[in-house]
Amino acid sequence: MAYDPTNIFARIVRGEIPCVRVYEDADTLAFMDLMPQSEGHTLVIPKVAGENLFDTPPGSVAAAILSTQRVARAVKAAFSPPGLIVTQFNGPAAGQTVFHLHFHVIPVYSAGGLRLHAREKADAATLEAHAARIRAALEGGA
Ligand code: 5GP
Repeated sequence: MAYDPTNIFARIVRGEIPCVRVYEDADTLAFMDLMPQSEGHTLVIPKVAGENLFDTPPGSVAAAILSTQRVARAVKAAFSPPGLIVTQFNGPAAGQTVFHLHFHVIPVYSAGGLRLHAREKADAATLEAHAARIRAALEGGA
């Protein structure tokens, strides 16, 4: 499949639609998942166009993974979950629904406690409150 520059994350990178941002640098952006599977579910993306792990330039993948580690540390510090998973899907059969490379940072509070993938929108105030906690952890050096 050719990269579709109108996908939702490409539009977020271009600032055409809003997101609840927690972190940004020259190469990457991190923001709250609109339909979080748990409190603190955050997405990390490279800014460069790339549908998945296979067609994104290695330097951009590396930048996104470094930002994922940084954001995961901050999410852990902000929410103190007993567990945290990082996932990344390639292709519809694997569960990918947005075709711009992204890493999920998902705190896990109890076994089997995650909500279903991409189902239920969180309200804006909740996402903003969660993002504020993550930003504070980043600013505190997490
Ligand atoms: P995928 O299924 O491709 O791995 O994950 C896409 C993720 O993007 C899902 O977890 C879904 O909840 C999230 N998502 C879908 N549309 C939007 C949106 O417009 N804004 C944000 N912030 N997240 C979105």
